[in-house]
Parts: sequence; structure tokens; C-alpha cells
Amino acid sequence: MPAKVIDGKALAKSVRVALKDRSAIVTEKLGRSPKLAVVLVGEDPASQVYVASKSKMAKRCGIEPVDIKLPADVSDQALQSQLEELSNDETVDGILLQLPLPKGLDEYGALLKIAPDKDVDGLHPANQGLLMRGAKAHRPCTPKGCIELIKEARRDLGHSEDLSGLNAVVVGRSVLVGKPVAFMLLEENCTATVCHSRSKNLEEICADADILVAAVGRPEMLGLSSVKEGAIVIDVGINRLDDGRLVGDVNYEEACEKAAAVTPVPGGVGPMTIAMLLSNTVDAAQDKVA
Ligand code: NAP
Repeated sequence: MPAKVIDGKALAKSVRVALKDRSAIVTEKLGRSPKLAVVLVGEDPASQVYVASKSKMAKRCGIEPVDIKLPADVSDQALQSQLEELSNDETVDGILLQLPLPKGLDEYGALLKIAPDKDVDGLHPANQGLLMRGAKAHRPCTPKGCIELIKEARRDLGHSEDLSGLNAVVVGRSVLVGKPVAFMLLEENCTATVCHSRSKNLEEICADADILVAAVGRPEMLGLSSVKEGAIVIDVGINRLDDGRLVGDVNYEEACEKAAAVTPVPGGVGPMTIAMLLSNTVDAAQDKVA
């Protein structure tokens, strides 16, 4: 049977539709729309596209976006004061610092200035610690999107959303994706294994995964021999080839030969990342009126 394509665009759209209703209820209770401040430092074209897209989608969900642009040569102190000011602003519910920052700026120092309850990207160490403890906190957007995509695949395949006991393998151990997605899979009662650049027998480990999450940044590095028959494959990687094509970390055609469900690149994890950011923003506003 050919693998099902897990359509991240369609799922993100359905998340946004539900979010619009939730946002309207919060707006009524709060007396204003949920507000998301997006801070962009420098002129990186890819980051500019992401920020524009986030603002457009926010408006569609009834969230007020505030775009703050700072020059690439901004000082650490000025960036941190801007984030502190937003953290102290009662009318701001969510703050997103677009990463990566231009070289030379202190990313961790900047993240520390975002109030944890407004850290809708889930990257403040307080929120990461709460994730490790399995406690309530904003969950990072890309990992949260991965979990939703896995559950969508399970529904599509006629299974329950319960992931208990499934063997999940994450390739990549970044703070942004690999580690948090592994903790979130643990929260879902999976047996989670994390692989990285020093892992031995990578193919063998992946080939035993009921759920395979690839978050590496190496074009199509996982192929036929890394995919278990009937697996759910979530491809987080975004790689631009010399011919201009975008591909993931998984060879899509080969994965489709064995997997039960696969996310495409583009159109898989990417759209869900933004949808989860908006969802976290409405959660942050809702918490103020709960
Ligand atoms: P990252 O910080 O560069 O981390 C990459 C991870 O891959 C590291 O843990 C590294 O291991 C591991 N790795 C590198 N080579 C490997 C190999 N040969 N075998 C096994 N593991 C290997 O990247 P990231 O921020 O997590 O992003 C990963 C990919 O996801 C990128 O393509 C990025 O563009 C994409 N991404 C997509 C979204 C989205 O919304 N779709 C969001 C975020 C990121 P070590 O730790 O040992 O070095």
C-alpha cells in the first residue's frame, strides 16, 4: 500500500480555523485581541519571509501581530531592553524572537529576557525545564507540530491517538527540535531514542522505529534502509539543493515505499510550526482570563 501523505498545510488550516473561534472568545473576555510581538533582528531574507508569514496568519486567526525590526548591528543591551519592555507590557501576550540572530549577538542572553509566560516559542530555559518535568508550559512550536502530525497520521490510518509503547526514534538532538520532541514523545508514553552525529548503527536504529522524526539538516540522508515497514515518518529537515529544490532529511520516494505515512517537504512540518506558535499565543492570552 502506498504511504499516506500527512498534509501539514491542511492540518494547519484546520488548527487555525479552530483557533479563530478560541481567539474570538478570549478577545471578548479580555476586551482586546491576543497580541503577538515578533522581533526580527537584521535583514536575513528567509527570516523576513517567515516573519511576514507569521504576521499574516496571526491576523487571520484574530491575533494582533506587532512586528519589531531591529538593525543587524543592534547591541545585546538594546535587544535585551526591547525584550524586557515587551515582557513588561501588559497588552503583549506572546513574544517571538526570530532565530537565528545575526552573528555576534548573544542568543541565550536574549531568550532569558523573555518572560516565560510570554515565551510562545517555548525556548526559555524555564519552559524547557518544565517540559523535562512533564509540567504545564509553552511547548516549542516545531516539536508540538510534530506530535500533532503523528496523531493526525494515526487517525488517518484508523488507529487511536494513543502512542503508548510505540518505538520512537528522533535523529538530531538540538535544543530547538531534537531534544524537546524526544521529551514530548516520552510524555506520550513512547519508548524514545535520540540519535546524533556520533550515533553508531543509525540505519539499524531507525529501521526499528514505529515513529521516525528526522531533524538533522542533511538532504535526504535517511532512505529505504532506515525506514520500518508501516512506520510514521516526520521529516523536519529543510534543505535547499543547488538546483533550487527544497528537500527534507528523508528521501521522500524511498520512505513512501515502506512507511504507512510520511510528511512532505515542503508542506509538512513547516506550516504546523506557525499554527502551533499562534495556538501558544492564544493560550497565553487565555491564561490571563482563566
Ligand atoms: P541543528 O541545530 O543543526 O541540529 C542538527 C542535529 O543533527 C544535531 O543534533 C546533529 O548532531 C545531528 N546530526 C548532524 N549530522 C548527523 C548525522 N550524520 N547523523 C545523525 N545526526 C546528525 O539543526 P536543527 O535546528 O535541529 O534543525 C534541523 C533541521 O530542521 C534543519 O534542516 C532545519 O532547517 C529544520 N527545521 C525545520 C523547522 C520547520 O518548521 N520545518 C523548524 C526548525 C528546524 P550533533 O548534536 O552530534 O552535532
